[in-house]
Amino acid sequence: MPTAIYPGTFDPVTNGHLDIIQRATSIFDTVVVAVAEDSGKDTLFSLEERLEILREVTSSLKGVYVESFSGLLIKYVKKKGADAIVRGLRAVSDFEYEMQMAMMNKKMAEDIETVFFFTSTEYSFLSSSVVKQVASLGGCVKGLVPSYVEKKLKEKYNFLK
Ligand code: ADP
Repeated sequence: MPTAIYPGTFDPVTNGHLDIIQRATSIFDTVVVAVAEDSGKDTLFSLEERLEILREVTSSLKGVYVESFSGLLIKYVKKKGADAIVRGLRAVSDFEYEMQMAMMNKKMAEDIETVFFFTSTEYSFLSSSVVKQVASLGGCVKGLVPSYVEKKLKEKYNFLK
């Protein structure tokens, strides 16, 4: 019963993340979306908000669970008894960092594989940062994030009518 951990900041979750989660479930029986407590990034949404949003938008997906983790990812992966780490790749710019992380994790735990999914073309330009930038200026992010996230962004940026 292979289990994968999909770690990230998810500030907020986008349709690009959701696409990776859905595709990961076709290979892994269980996909744990692991929200980093201390990713080193200044986040718009608190950890609790990011968890709540992710739980809401993945509630209909079988075998998908949402949790938070802190500290070293590989320790958390081992503690969960998972088989693999899932990450998404959008562009060459993602590659260097992702490869470094994958190699480092391999060095620390040889039996854990990192599995990369290439982004779907329609989401190749999509990041949480670009979504936040557009939403903060009152732009429309429909189709880029689930409607629940759209609503949460509007609330955050006070653009609710
Ligand atoms: P992190 O801070 O760990 O990079 P993110 O939430 O930004 O957290 O991203 C988590 C993972 O999802 C990363 O592997 C990232 O490359 C991937 N990802 C983000 N956006 C997309 C997208 N549009 N398509 C595919 N993968 C994506």
